[in-house]
Amino acid sequence: MIPGSFEYHRPESVDGAIALLNEHGDEARLLAGGHSLIPMMKLRMAVPSHIVDLQAIDSLHGISEDGGELVIGALTTQHEVLISDLLARKCPIIPEAAALIADPQVRYCGTIGGNVANGDPGNDMPAIMQALGARFRAVGPNGSRDIAARDYYEAAYFTELEENEVLTQIRIPTPAAGHGAAYEKQKRKIGDYATAAAAVILTVESGRCTSASIALTNVASTPLYAEAAAGALVGTDLGADAVDTAVRLAEEITEPTSDGRGPADFRTHVAGIMVRRAIARAQKNAG
Ligand SMILES: Cc1cc2nc3c(=O)[nH]c(=O)nc-3n(C[C@H](O)[C@H](O)[C@H](O)COP(=O)(O)OP(=O)(O)OC[C@H]3O[C@@H](n4cnc5c(N)ncnc54)[C@H](O)[C@@H]3O)c2cc1C
Repeated sequence: MIPGSFEYHRPESVDGAIALLNEHGDEARLLAGGHSLIPMMKLRMAVPSHIVDLQAIDSLHGISEDGGELVIGALTTQHEVLISDLLARKCPIIPEAAALIADPQVRYCGTIGGNVANGDPGNDMPAIMQALGARFRAVGPNGSRDIAARDYYEAAYFTELEENEVLTQIRIPTPAAGHGAAYEKQKRKIGDYATAAAAVILTVESGRCTSASIALTNVASTPLYAEAAAGALVGTDLGADAVDTAVRLAEEITEPTSDGRGPADFRTHVAGIMVRRAIARAQKNAG
Protein backbone atom coordinates (compact mmCIF):
# COMPACT_ATOMS: atom_id res chain seq x y z
CA MET A 1 0.00 0.00 0.00
CA ILE A 2 2.86 2.42 0.73
CA PRO A 3 5.07 3.40 -2.24
CA GLY A 4 8.73 4.35 -1.91
CA SER A 5 9.55 8.05 -1.81
CA PHE A 6 10.17 9.93 -5.05
CA GLU A 7 10.66 13.40 -6.45
CA TYR A 8 7.67 14.71 -8.42
CA HIS A 9 8.02 16.68 -11.69
CA ARG A 10 5.26 18.24 -13.77
CA PRO A 11 6.66 19.47 -17.10
CA GLU A 12 4.43 21.52 -19.42
CA SER A 13 5.94 20.35 -22.69
CA VAL A 14 7.02 17.07 -24.27
CA ASP A 15 10.57 18.48 -24.53
CA GLY A 16 10.50 19.19 -20.81
CA ALA A 17 9.46 15.60 -20.10
CA ILE A 18 12.21 14.24 -22.36
CA ALA A 19 14.81 16.44 -20.66
CA LEU A 20 13.79 14.99 -17.29
CA LEU A 21 13.96 11.43 -18.65
CA ASN A 22 17.44 12.15 -20.02
CA GLU A 23 18.59 13.64 -16.74
CA HIS A 24 17.34 10.84 -14.50
CA GLY A 25 17.66 7.77 -16.76
CA ASP A 26 16.07 4.60 -15.44
CA GLU A 27 15.43 6.26 -12.06
CA ALA A 28 12.54 8.15 -13.71
CA ARG A 29 9.09 6.95 -14.79
CA LEU A 30 6.42 8.76 -16.74
CA LEU A 31 3.06 9.05 -15.01
CA ALA A 32 -0.13 9.28 -17.09
CA GLY A 33 -3.39 8.14 -15.44
CA GLY A 34 -1.43 6.30 -12.78
CA HIS A 35 -3.78 3.31 -12.69
CA SER A 36 -1.16 0.75 -13.62
CA LEU A 37 1.97 2.50 -12.33
CA ILE A 38 0.72 3.56 -8.88
CA PRO A 39 -0.61 0.06 -8.01
CA MET A 40 2.86 -1.30 -8.93
CA MET A 41 4.53 1.38 -6.78
CA LYS A 42 2.26 0.53 -3.84
CA LEU A 43 3.43 -3.08 -4.11
CA ARG A 44 7.04 -1.81 -4.48
CA MET A 45 7.28 -3.70 -7.75
CA ALA A 46 8.19 -0.30 -9.22
CA VAL A 47 10.36 2.00 -7.12
CA PRO A 48 11.11 5.05 -9.29
CA SER A 49 12.92 7.91 -7.55
CA HIS A 50 11.57 10.47 -10.06
CA ILE A 51 7.99 10.69 -11.30
CA VAL A 52 7.42 12.75 -14.45
CA ASP A 53 3.70 13.57 -14.56
CA LEU A 54 2.46 14.20 -18.13
CA GLN A 55 -0.93 15.65 -17.19
CA ALA A 56 0.02 19.33 -17.71
CA ILE A 57 1.11 18.81 -21.34
CA ASP A 58 -1.88 20.13 -23.29
CA SER A 59 -0.71 18.82 -26.67
CA LEU A 60 -1.10 15.22 -25.44
CA HIS A 61 -4.86 15.51 -25.00
CA GLY A 62 -7.65 15.16 -27.56
CA ILE A 63 -9.10 13.14 -30.43
CA SER A 64 -9.13 14.40 -34.02
CA GLU A 65 -9.04 13.32 -37.64
CA ASP A 66 -6.04 14.28 -39.74
CA GLY A 67 -6.38 13.38 -43.41
CA GLY A 68 -7.06 9.67 -43.51
CA GLU A 69 -6.03 9.07 -39.92
CA LEU A 70 -7.68 9.23 -36.52
CA VAL A 71 -5.29 10.78 -34.02
CA ILE A 72 -5.69 10.15 -30.31
CA GLY A 73 -3.45 12.06 -27.91
CA ALA A 74 -1.69 9.74 -25.47
CA LEU A 75 -3.20 11.43 -22.41
CA THR A 76 -6.79 11.01 -23.64
CA THR A 77 -8.63 9.08 -20.95
CA GLN A 78 -10.55 5.89 -21.52
CA HIS A 79 -13.68 7.81 -20.50
CA GLU A 80 -13.06 10.42 -23.22
CA VAL A 81 -12.58 7.64 -25.75
CA LEU A 82 -15.79 6.01 -24.59
CA ILE A 83 -17.88 9.16 -25.18
CA SER A 84 -16.18 10.36 -28.40
CA ASP A 85 -18.69 10.97 -31.23
CA LEU A 86 -15.90 10.88 -33.80
CA LEU A 87 -14.77 7.42 -32.70
CA ALA A 88 -18.36 6.16 -32.39
CA ARG A 89 -18.92 7.12 -36.03
CA LYS A 90 -15.58 6.18 -37.58
CA CYS A 91 -14.04 3.52 -35.38
CA PRO A 92 -16.58 2.12 -32.94
CA ILE A 93 -14.40 -0.81 -31.82
CA ILE A 94 -12.33 1.63 -29.71
CA PRO A 95 -15.20 2.92 -27.54
CA GLU A 96 -16.63 -0.60 -27.47
CA ALA A 97 -13.38 -1.92 -26.00
CA ALA A 98 -13.00 1.05 -23.63
CA ALA A 99 -16.34 0.13 -22.06
CA LEU A 100 -14.90 -3.30 -21.24
CA ILE A 101 -11.80 -1.87 -19.54
CA ALA A 102 -11.70 -1.62 -15.76
CA ASP A 103 -14.52 0.42 -14.18
CA PRO A 104 -15.80 4.02 -14.36
CA GLN A 105 -13.35 5.46 -11.83
CA VAL A 106 -10.34 3.85 -13.49
CA ARG A 107 -11.59 5.02 -16.90
CA TYR A 108 -11.77 8.65 -15.71
CA CYS A 109 -8.01 8.50 -15.00
CA GLY A 110 -6.49 5.74 -17.13
CA THR A 111 -5.24 6.96 -20.50
CA ILE A 112 -5.12 5.28 -23.86
CA GLY A 113 -1.40 6.10 -24.11
CA GLY A 114 -0.72 4.49 -20.74
CA ASN A 115 -2.77 1.47 -21.77
CA VAL A 116 -0.76 0.86 -24.93
CA ALA A 117 2.64 1.96 -23.56
CA ASN A 118 2.43 -0.13 -20.40
CA GLY A 119 3.33 -3.49 -21.99
CA ASP A 120 1.08 -5.60 -19.76
CA PRO A 121 -0.42 -8.34 -21.95
CA GLY A 122 -3.63 -7.97 -19.93
CA ASN A 123 -4.27 -4.50 -21.36
CA ASP A 124 -7.01 -4.47 -23.98
CA MET A 125 -6.11 -1.55 -26.26
CA PRO A 126 -2.89 -3.06 -27.66
CA ALA A 127 -4.69 -5.83 -29.58
CA ILE A 128 -7.31 -3.36 -30.83
CA MET A 129 -4.48 -1.17 -32.12
CA GLN A 130 -2.81 -4.13 -33.81
CA ALA A 131 -6.06 -5.11 -35.50
CA LEU A 132 -6.53 -1.51 -36.69
CA GLY A 133 -2.95 -1.22 -38.00
CA ALA A 134 -2.29 1.76 -35.71
CA ARG A 135 1.07 3.47 -35.24
CA PHE A 136 2.39 4.91 -32.02
CA ARG A 137 4.24 8.22 -32.29
CA ALA A 138 7.25 8.32 -29.99
CA VAL A 139 9.16 11.54 -29.35
CA GLY A 140 12.69 11.48 -27.95
CA PRO A 141 15.78 13.69 -27.86
CA ASN A 142 16.40 13.12 -31.57
CA GLY A 143 12.87 13.87 -32.77
CA SER A 144 9.88 11.70 -33.46
CA ARG A 145 9.34 8.29 -35.01
CA ASP A 146 6.34 6.07 -35.56
CA ILE A 147 6.26 2.48 -34.34
CA ALA A 148 3.66 0.08 -35.75
CA ALA A 149 1.49 -1.40 -32.99
CA ARG A 150 2.19 -4.77 -34.60
CA ASP A 151 5.95 -4.30 -33.93
CA TYR A 152 5.77 -2.51 -30.60
CA TYR A 153 5.43 -5.39 -28.11
CA GLU A 154 8.48 -7.57 -27.41
CA ALA A 155 7.57 -9.41 -24.18
CA ALA A 156 5.64 -8.66 -21.00
CA TYR A 157 6.58 -5.08 -20.06
CA PHE A 158 9.24 -4.96 -22.79
CA THR A 159 8.42 -2.70 -25.71
CA GLU A 160 10.12 -0.88 -28.57
CA LEU A 161 9.89 2.43 -26.68
CA GLU A 162 13.27 3.79 -25.50
CA GLU A 163 13.69 4.94 -21.92
CA ASN A 164 13.96 8.58 -22.99
CA GLU A 165 10.96 8.59 -25.33
CA VAL A 166 7.40 9.77 -24.71
CA LEU A 167 4.52 8.17 -26.58
CA THR A 168 2.59 11.22 -27.77
CA GLN A 169 -0.08 10.00 -30.20
CA ILE A 170 -1.83 6.95 -31.47
CA ARG A 171 -2.45 7.25 -35.22
CA ILE A 172 -5.05 4.95 -36.75
CA PRO A 173 -5.81 4.67 -40.48
CA THR A 174 -9.52 5.55 -40.54
CA PRO A 175 -11.27 2.23 -41.15
CA ALA A 176 -13.29 1.91 -44.37
CA ALA A 177 -16.86 3.20 -44.16
CA GLY A 178 -19.15 0.22 -43.69
CA HIS A 179 -16.49 -1.96 -42.08
CA GLY A 180 -17.65 -4.34 -39.36
CA ALA A 181 -15.79 -4.70 -36.09
CA ALA A 182 -16.18 -6.40 -32.75
CA TYR A 183 -14.21 -6.90 -29.55
CA GLU A 184 -15.17 -9.97 -27.54
CA LYS A 185 -13.71 -10.28 -24.05
CA GLN A 186 -14.19 -13.12 -21.60
CA LYS A 187 -13.46 -12.06 -18.01
CA ARG A 188 -14.34 -13.29 -14.54
CA LYS A 189 -15.90 -10.01 -13.40
CA ILE A 190 -15.98 -6.26 -14.07
CA GLY A 191 -12.49 -4.78 -13.84
CA ASP A 192 -10.75 -8.07 -14.53
CA TYR A 193 -8.21 -8.55 -17.26
CA ALA A 194 -9.29 -10.94 -20.02
CA THR A 195 -9.15 -14.70 -19.75
CA ALA A 196 -8.94 -14.22 -23.50
CA ALA A 197 -10.24 -11.56 -25.88
CA ALA A 198 -10.33 -11.04 -29.63
CA ALA A 199 -10.62 -8.02 -31.91
CA VAL A 200 -11.95 -8.57 -35.42
CA ILE A 201 -12.28 -5.95 -38.16
CA LEU A 202 -13.51 -6.84 -41.62
CA THR A 203 -15.14 -5.56 -44.77
CA VAL A 204 -17.73 -7.44 -46.81
CA GLU A 205 -18.80 -6.77 -50.39
CA SER A 206 -21.59 -8.71 -52.08
CA GLY A 207 -21.38 -11.36 -49.38
CA ARG A 208 -17.59 -11.85 -49.73
CA CYS A 209 -15.05 -10.86 -47.12
CA THR A 210 -12.69 -8.39 -48.82
CA SER A 211 -10.39 -7.63 -45.89
CA ALA A 212 -9.97 -8.90 -42.35
CA SER A 213 -7.76 -8.44 -39.37
CA ILE A 214 -7.71 -10.25 -36.05
CA ALA A 215 -5.72 -9.69 -32.85
CA LEU A 216 -5.81 -11.41 -29.45
CA THR A 217 -5.49 -10.15 -25.86
CA ASN A 218 -3.89 -11.86 -22.86
CA VAL A 219 -3.12 -15.24 -24.38
CA ALA A 220 0.65 -14.73 -24.64
CA SER A 221 3.29 -12.45 -23.13
CA THR A 222 2.30 -9.84 -25.74
CA PRO A 223 -0.83 -9.05 -27.72
CA LEU A 224 -0.96 -11.23 -30.83
CA TYR A 225 -1.68 -10.11 -34.36
CA ALA A 226 -3.32 -13.19 -35.90
CA GLU A 227 -2.38 -12.62 -39.52
CA ALA A 228 -2.93 -16.16 -40.81
CA ALA A 229 -6.31 -16.45 -39.08
CA ALA A 230 -7.52 -13.25 -40.76
CA GLY A 231 -6.10 -14.41 -44.09
CA ALA A 232 -8.30 -17.51 -43.90
CA LEU A 233 -11.38 -15.27 -44.06
CA VAL A 234 -10.46 -13.04 -46.99
CA GLY A 235 -12.16 -14.02 -50.26
CA THR A 236 -14.62 -16.32 -48.51
CA ASP A 237 -18.31 -15.89 -47.73
CA LEU A 238 -17.45 -16.26 -44.02
CA GLY A 239 -19.02 -19.69 -44.03
CA ALA A 240 -18.45 -22.37 -41.42
CA ASP A 241 -15.28 -23.81 -43.00
CA ALA A 242 -13.55 -20.45 -43.26
CA VAL A 243 -14.49 -19.52 -39.71
CA ASP A 244 -13.35 -22.90 -38.35
CA THR A 245 -9.99 -22.45 -40.09
CA ALA A 246 -9.59 -18.93 -38.74
CA VAL A 247 -10.41 -20.09 -35.21
CA ARG A 248 -7.90 -22.95 -35.45
CA LEU A 249 -5.15 -20.68 -36.82
CA ALA A 250 -5.79 -18.14 -34.06
CA GLU A 251 -5.70 -20.84 -31.37
CA GLU A 252 -2.41 -22.13 -32.76
CA ILE A 253 -0.48 -18.93 -32.06
CA THR A 254 -1.60 -18.58 -28.44
CA GLU A 255 0.81 -19.26 -25.59
CA PRO A 256 -1.16 -18.37 -22.47
CA THR A 257 0.04 -18.90 -18.91
CA SER A 258 -2.01 -20.89 -16.42
CA ASP A 259 -3.27 -18.62 -13.64
CA GLY A 260 -6.40 -17.80 -11.66
CA ARG A 261 -8.24 -17.40 -14.98
CA GLY A 262 -7.72 -21.07 -15.75
CA PRO A 263 -5.21 -23.50 -17.22
CA ALA A 264 -3.43 -22.62 -20.45
CA ASP A 265 -5.39 -25.00 -22.69
CA PHE A 266 -8.68 -23.59 -21.38
CA ARG A 267 -7.55 -20.05 -22.18
CA THR A 268 -6.57 -21.11 -25.70
CA HIS A 269 -10.02 -22.63 -26.10
CA VAL A 270 -11.64 -19.41 -24.83
CA ALA A 271 -9.54 -17.41 -27.31
CA GLY A 272 -11.02 -19.53 -30.12
CA ILE A 273 -14.54 -18.87 -28.86
CA MET A 274 -13.84 -15.14 -28.65
CA VAL A 275 -12.57 -15.15 -32.24
CA ARG A 276 -15.65 -17.02 -33.43
CA ARG A 277 -18.02 -14.63 -31.67
CA ALA A 278 -16.13 -11.56 -32.82
CA ILE A 279 -16.17 -12.71 -36.46
CA ALA A 280 -19.93 -13.32 -36.28
CA ARG A 281 -20.63 -9.92 -34.74
CA ALA A 282 -18.22 -8.06 -37.05
CA GLN A 283 -19.95 -9.66 -40.03
CA LYS A 284 -23.31 -8.54 -38.67
CA ASN A 285 -21.97 -5.01 -38.14
CA ALA A 286 -20.52 -4.76 -41.66
CA GLY A 287 -22.37 -3.02 -44.46
C1 LIG B 1 -8.99 -2.06 -10.91
C2 LIG B 1 -8.34 -1.93 -12.26
C3 LIG B 1 -8.84 -2.69 -13.31
C4 LIG B 1 -8.25 -2.57 -14.56
N1 LIG B 1 -8.77 -3.31 -15.60
C5 LIG B 1 -8.23 -3.17 -16.83
C6 LIG B 1 -8.76 -3.91 -17.95
O1 LIG B 1 -9.70 -4.67 -17.83
N2 LIG B 1 -8.18 -3.72 -19.16
C7 LIG B 1 -7.14 -2.86 -19.35
O2 LIG B 1 -6.68 -2.71 -20.47
N3 LIG B 1 -6.63 -2.16 -18.32
C8 LIG B 1 -7.15 -2.29 -17.08
N4 LIG B 1 -6.62 -1.58 -16.04
C9 LIG B 1 -5.46 -0.72 -16.30
C10 LIG B 1 -5.90 0.69 -16.59
O3 LIG B 1 -6.63 0.73 -17.78
C11 LIG B 1 -4.67 1.61 -16.67
O4 LIG B 1 -5.10 2.88 -16.43
C12 LIG B 1 -3.89 1.60 -17.96
O5 LIG B 1 -3.45 0.33 -18.33
C13 LIG B 1 -2.61 2.43 -17.88
O6 LIG B 1 -2.93 3.72 -18.18
P1 LIG B 1 -2.52 4.90 -17.23
O7 LIG B 1 -2.82 6.14 -17.98
O8 LIG B 1 -3.18 4.70 -15.91
O9 LIG B 1 -0.93 4.71 -17.15
P2 LIG B 1 0.07 4.81 -15.93
O10 LIG B 1 -0.31 3.85 -14.85
O11 LIG B 1 0.29 6.22 -15.56
O12 LIG B 1 1.37 4.28 -16.69
C14 LIG B 1 1.51 2.92 -17.06
C15 LIG B 1 2.89 2.72 -17.70
O13 LIG B 1 2.95 3.33 -18.98
C16 LIG B 1 3.96 4.33 -19.02
N5 LIG B 1 3.38 5.45 -19.77
C17 LIG B 1 2.18 6.04 -19.53
N6 LIG B 1 1.95 7.00 -20.44
C18 LIG B 1 3.03 7.02 -21.25
C19 LIG B 1 3.37 7.79 -22.41
N7 LIG B 1 2.55 8.72 -22.89
N8 LIG B 1 4.56 7.55 -23.00
C20 LIG B 1 5.38 6.57 -22.54
N9 LIG B 1 5.11 5.81 -21.46
C21 LIG B 1 3.94 6.04 -20.83
C22 LIG B 1 4.26 4.68 -17.56
O14 LIG B 1 5.57 5.15 -17.39
C23 LIG B 1 4.04 3.34 -16.90
O15 LIG B 1 5.17 2.53 -17.06
C24 LIG B 1 -7.16 -1.68 -14.77
C25 LIG B 1 -6.66 -0.93 -13.71
C26 LIG B 1 -7.24 -1.04 -12.46
C27 LIG B 1 -6.67 -0.22 -11.33
